[in-house]
Amino acid sequence: MSNSDSTVSVFKAKASALVIECPACNAEQENWIKDPRGDEHECDACGKTYRVSIAAQIEII
Ligand SMILES: [Zn+2]
Repeated sequence: MSNSDSTVSVFKAKASALVIECPACNAEQENWIKDPRGDEHECDACGKTYRVSIAAQIEII
C-alpha cells in the first residue's frame, strides 16, 4: 500500500447553492441540509410531495 492515490471520492457542495425546482409549481427549493437524492420531499411553496431521483445529476451553474 502507498499513499500516492490522489483520487478524490468525496466532494462538498455548500447547502445554500443546492437548488431543486419543484415539478409541480417550479418553485426553487433551497437550503438542503443533506443530499436530497433518493428521497421524497414536500415543496415549501405548494405543499406537494415529489421524489428526487437517486441518479439526479448536480448541475454546476
Ligand atoms: Zn411546489
